[in-house]
Amino acid sequence: MNLKSPLTDVDGIGRERAKKLDKLGIRTVGDLVHYYPRSYEMRGDVRLLKNGIPGEVASYILTVKTTVSTAQIKRGFTISKFRALDESGTCEIVFFNSPYVKDCFCIGNTFRFYGKLEVGKGGIRLSNPKYDQVFENRVLPDFVPIYPLTEGITSKQLSKWIASAVNETLPRITDPLSDDLCMKNELCSLSYAIRGIHFPDSKEMLDTAMRRLAFDELFSFGLGIAKCATDNRKGNAPFMKSTDLKPFLNLLPFELTSAQKNTVNEIWRDMTKKEPDGHTPPMTRILVGDVGSGKTVCAEISIFLAVKNGYQTALMAPTEILVRQHYKDLSEKFGALGIEVGLLVGSTSAKEKNRIYSALADGSLKVIVGTHALLSEKTEFRNLGLIVTDEQHRFGVKQRAILKNKSDSAHLLVMSATPIPRTLALSLYGDLDVSKISEMPKGRIKVDTYAVDETYRKRLNAFIRKQVEEGGQVYIVTPAIESDEETGFGVIPDPESGTMVHENFARMKNAVDYAKDLQKDLPDLPIEVLHGKMKAAEKDEIMGRFVSGETKILVSTTVIEVGVNVPNATLMIVENADRFGLSQLHQLRGRVGRGKKKSYCILVSDEKSEKARKRLEIMTSTSDGFEIAEKDLMMRGPGDFFSSISDDNIRQSGGFSFRFASVLSDADLMNSAFSEAKAVLADDPELSKSEHASYLSMIENLFLPSADTIS
Ligand code: ADP
Ligand code: MG
Repeated sequence: MNLKSPLTDVDGIGRERAKKLDKLGIRTVGDLVHYYPRSYEMRGDVRLLKNGIPGEVASYILTVKTTVSTAQIKRGFTISKFRALDESGTCEIVFFNSPYVKDCFCIGNTFRFYGKLEVGKGGIRLSNPKYDQVFENRVLPDFVPIYPLTEGITSKQLSKWIASAVNETLPRITDPLSDDLCMKNELCSLSYAIRGIHFPDSKEMLDTAMRRLAFDELFSFGLGIAKCATDNRKGNAPFMKSTDLKPFLNLLPFELTSAQKNTVNEIWRDMTKKEPDGHTPPMTRILVGDVGSGKTVCAEISIFLAVKNGYQTALMAPTEILVRQHYKDLSEKFGALGIEVGLLVGSTSAKEKNRIYSALADGSLKVIVGTHALLSEKTEFRNLGLIVTDEQHRFGVKQRAILKNKSDSAHLLVMSATPIPRTLALSLYGDLDVSKISEMPKGRIKVDTYAVDETYRKRLNAFIRKQVEEGGQVYIVTPAIESDEETGFGVIPDPESGTMVHENFARMKNAVDYAKDLQKDLPDLPIEVLHGKMKAAEKDEIMGRFVSGETKILVSTTVIEVGVNVPNATLMIVENADRFGLSQLHQLRGRVGRGKKKSYCILVSDEKSEKARKRLEIMTSTSDGFEIAEKDLMMRGPGDFFSSISDDNIRQSGGFSFRFASVLSDADLMNSAFSEAKAVLADDPELSKSEHASYLSMIENLFLPSADTIS
């Protein structure tokens, strides 16, 4: 068995199960090995009953004291009960609809029960706990991995298959990093890391594993971005002649801010540059600016310049919603200038797609806006001169390479809305030229921000109703998706220290239950739920109904973060606000205050610690994203600008999906990873040496978008 072997080589996986695993993106033994847990149950946290805290999940080693009695409560509903004890007390154990447990629990046998302690009429109890029988010489695992699942597959099964895949393949796995490199940076081997992430023996093993996997992410990111920039600069880009901007500027209902003017000048200089030797290096520029600072219009000006020079341009954005927004905006402006704009997304009809393919191939269509659909083999350009990407994180080196291959050497402009302190921007974007829009357009209505606790709940719901009745719309963001995440803990970044902590999910509001409860309170208002476990098409539909105003209240996880524009939204509520990074809160707040109406952001948190309070205070006292980022950094050192409790534990990092790394909290790790990457590229810019072959595949794979963003 090797990493490329089919799943059916694993004991217990047949054709049917392989089909189910396919839904999780697991197709080979290698996929199985790299399918990492979403969270862990800390079953090693064994307590005495007398030390148990109601509401908390923990393990208890208990001996069965009574026989199991099963009663039928209602038709088709049974309850089985017995008592069990340890040296400190006794406890009731309850199982619902599991009459078979009477055969599992015999008086005198001892088990390790894992569950949430409850206080009932008859004292303390555990309902539907997980259990392992305790025998002499049997070692029970302290950590039980919890995997993201699909119907018909349990975490236990998956864990067993992963264990056998890991055992079979790890001895022969090749580590892309050399021993020297690992030693120098105090990293464990890849095989230790893989074993440690799936089956940690201890917290230390888990931390060591995560550190190695974080290094790999940062190293390949550093390598990828540097290589991309180097490759990009080598080419000969189309030389553009300066052109009269007035026709475009006349269409704008506003004047450019001076920050926008500077940016436009920088772009202009890049695109109209000719070296003394005649070489015309392509622009390789990232445009950073706070949400709402007006990046789009700068990009449009670059598009205008290219089109006026007779070149084609492609604008790519990560979701269909964003793409449609850009399309609407661009086609209004360019339409007025007699320039056609095309739209290419997954749902574009086959007929229209074909029309666009041929118009792009013969060069008659100059401006195309699209999602990943633009990357399809069928899109061919006659003379692509400029590529613009919005919210760069979903686009990896590979996507850009694909798009770039469609032209000889196009100019590249990347837009990012993540405020990053200057010191970090240097290392992150060191290989790109950076334009920063550091000023907001005049006349924006400030979003009023308040931090409140649970005692405001009633007033809060009344305020939601008021906003809707006055014609506004409401976003509500929760940290968790649904209540099945309640048990166990997830390994997530602590917003205060930026280090990875084991968070008990029980504390967190989840979108699904929240929406149900809110609907009871506001029965007449249209509420919908949106989260990352949904398919892209479903997300787009739900978002579409919110954009159109049909849905008034959207309860969601952070999936709405990326540049969505609903000018009618006037209220943003963030639940468990202390659980989010400040920059993330800032991004979320940027979703409101986009129209003419007064808007509000309410941060709900019951966390009473001084630090949590101070952090939220920063949010209520300033609305400048860069200031927030700097303050956050100053207040507690490296932190969480990029980390988020987002779906599937994927952390949107400065726009890059890092799963293990947190750019700020891992600043040291990032610096070592980046300098290693630079050293490699200095020695071998093409990564053509055989010992670097593994790096090439590292960069290819790490930047792939999550499967459901490809339409
Ligand atoms: P972002 O930088 O977040 O992508 P946008 O480019 O979407 O921001 O701009 C946000 C809004 O501000 C748009 O409605 C845009 O028309 C408007 N805008 C951009 N520049 C200016 C300006 N100089 N003056 C006034 N409004 C502006
Ligand atoms: Mg934008």
